Amino acid sequence: MTRRIMLNAKKPCLLHVPRLVLVLLLLASCQSTNVKETKSSRSHKAKLPQPPQVTQPSRPKPTTKDENEELRQEIETWIKDDIVPKVSKAIYLPYDGSIPIKVELTNVSEQLAYMEEYYRQEDPENPGKTYANRNDWIGEYVTVLGLLQDANDFLPVYKDFRSSFAAASYYNGTIEVYLEPDQPLDKDRLYSSLVHEVVHLLQDQYFPFRHPDVYQDNEYEAHKGLIEGHAKFIDLLFRNEINPDDVTNPEFSKRFKKYLEDYRVQLESYNISNDPSATQKQLQHPELSNFLLYDAVTPYSYGPLIVSYIIEDLVEQGIVNPAVFWKKVHAFLDNPPVSMEQVLHPEKMAAFAETADAPDPVNEDALTINTSEETLLETTIFGENTWRSLLRAYGIDTAEAVAAAAGWDGDRVWVLRNNDGVHSVHMLIRFDSDQDLQEFVTTLKKAIDGKSILHVEVDALELRLVFTAKSEQSES
Ligand SMILES: [Zn+2]
Repeated sequence: MTRRIMLNAKKPCLLHVPRLVLVLLLLASCQSTNVKETKSSRSHKAKLPQPPQVTQPSRPKPTTKDENEELRQEIETWIKDDIVPKVSKAIYLPYDGSIPIKVELTNVSEQLAYMEEYYRQEDPENPGKTYANRNDWIGEYVTVLGLLQDANDFLPVYKDFRSSFAAASYYNGTIEVYLEPDQPLDKDRLYSSLVHEVVHLLQDQYFPFRHPDVYQDNEYEAHKGLIEGHAKFIDLLFRNEINPDDVTNPEFSKRFKKYLEDYRVQLESYNISNDPSATQKQLQHPELSNFLLYDAVTPYSYGPLIVSYIIEDLVEQGIVNPAVFWKKVHAFLDNPPVSMEQVLHPEKMAAFAETADAPDPVNEDALTINTSEETLLETTIFGENTWRSLLRAYGIDTAEAVAAAAGWDGDRVWVLRNNDGVHSVHMLIRFDSDQDLQEFVTTLKKAIDGKSILHVEVDALELRLVFTAKSEQSES
């Protein structure tokens, strides 16, 4: 979560501004992955509805210590004199200086301290309440979905995602480099991360992230899929010391696609329970932890494959001039996918007209709410990938989750609280065919068994689901 969209959000509507919690918890946006891929996933936002947000939290100011100033300058010079020229030449996006390059050094404890401080502040929208209070209901929401037993565990688990970082991040012209205290800087490890962040800087210069008119999470995620996919594609080329001009070689592009497929599979096989660096709290709540991670990692696992798909198409057209070639890739950054479905299945992008598949959006008013009894806390769009992530978090194996979520054609999620303080989650999902719908229902019922009370209603190709937490049911 990285780009101008965060800063320039003009209309403060429910879904317009990226989610507050992760703005707070994952302030360092868009950490690039480095040697340890699974770590990077923790530093990206996940799909959670957010409360309305009007005021933007200010960024923490990294406090570069005097003794680090020399190192900071060294990295800045390295980026300016070596990495920027190499990357901009490789991807045919000259750096024009319009975004000054700044490097700041930071570390995990500094960011955590800022976060804690931020949480203690009073929320100007809700006098008497802190920013931490504002997010209380999100714990209830994931509990209703059966991902947690106790809503109070949400924030501690979530905070732990803040405790591990990738090597660097890009945010509005600034490249932040994370230093581990008492550890020497590993320049080899940092290199491809800096390449990645420099790609973001160049993207920022040429393709300010376009804001959909009506902001939808799913669409934001899809844009991010291409933005991150492009950056990850380039950082993997550099990491493997490949000349980016070689991608127009048909043999090479096939081999590299295979490499990216393997890379995706590697990221997709992640499970918090097998991660030696997972914290105690994350291990105690694997369903929530996996849900957050699965969803967050997708732009980095599937994103590079979109670029690969575009390349395959261009190579088939016989485009071999790298300059022409990369320009055509850039045209996609100008016209990004509109749905995560298209990130997962690039052939469904509008640019590939024969197989294009745009979602059938579900409007906010598709759920009738009795406002004297219930309050709408949030509404959002999951998208195909979040359904996959949810099913996988429930323990469904990846292949079955992928098959179950396929055929998705649109959805909406509403989080409600009734006058007794009981939360419920309503969902409406559209499918391409009845078979797609039935497959999904079968897998979902298996997945949710015993975790939540699930009400299922089918009408033609539409599926309505209502989740209620078990404990709440038994209390009432
Ligand atoms: Zn990135």
